[in-house]
Amino acid sequence: MQEEMIRSERMKLVSEMAASVAHEIRNPLTTVRGFIQLLGAGGTSAERKRYYEKICLEELDRAQHIITDYLSLAKTEAESIEMININQETDYLANILLTYANYNNVKIEVRTAEEPLFIVGDKHKLRQALINIGKNAIEAMSSDGVLSIDLQKRGQTVVLKISDNGVGMTPEQLNRLGSPYFSTKDKGTGLGTMVSFSIIKKMDGKIDIRSQVGKGTIFEISFPEGNQGV
Ligand code: ADP
Ligand code: MG
Repeated sequence: MQEEMIRSERMKLVSEMAASVAHEIRNPLTTVRGFIQLLGAGGTSAERKRYYEKICLEELDRAQHIITDYLSLAKTEAESIEMININQETDYLANILLTYANYNNVKIEVRTAEEPLFIVGDKHKLRQALINIGKNAIEAMSSDGVLSIDLQKRGQTVVLKISDNGVGMTPEQLNRLGSPYFSTKDKGTGLGTMVSFSIIKKMDGKIDIRSQVGKGTIFEISFPEGNQGV
């Protein structure tokens, strides 16, 4: 896979998520603005004021977190192969997809493994691959959708399951998934999945997809477990 294509698909991901990130940052700003007005209104007890301050700080921290996560996706970094804590990556994935999910009125359920699990690869590319799969899942759902992200260990393998209860795919569509320019979307390019698959394969990962029209889709991505300390 050409680095150039991976980079340009990442920029597409970044720009497609921009509106939801902006929206999610506007909420805390509105909240903080309201509380600052209350703080200035007078007649507020010291205890109340401390409570308002606490909420303001929490909301600002949340906004900062969203921006940091988002910028980390946009940042172009030289390839670096390292030991990746996949529990942390699962949380990152859920966090960054949360803004997009809120924007599309779908919920996210996450379950990470209890023990720390590691795999080997390029963290930023892995993020790109997983976000695209998660983003497709969100786009496949309507407002009562649930995206589930589930991490578990199976023998010497780390399994990440990304499932949706969206439109699903026919066997023909499933067959074409990952081939260039296959898209059922108005503004789709049909390159995201191809890039995701290539990144995952390069990490010795395997992808197993099950899908049923009207029921949903399950992406099961498995990686060989990396040895901590190697
Ligand atoms: P794009 O999102 O730009 O269309 P992708 O390569 O990311 O390109 O996806 C290709 C196509 O695969 C989508 O247009 C869609 O038809 C199908 N697809 C991918 N993931 C899902 C999913 N979770 N549920 C239903 N269809 C999906
Ligand atoms: Mg896509």
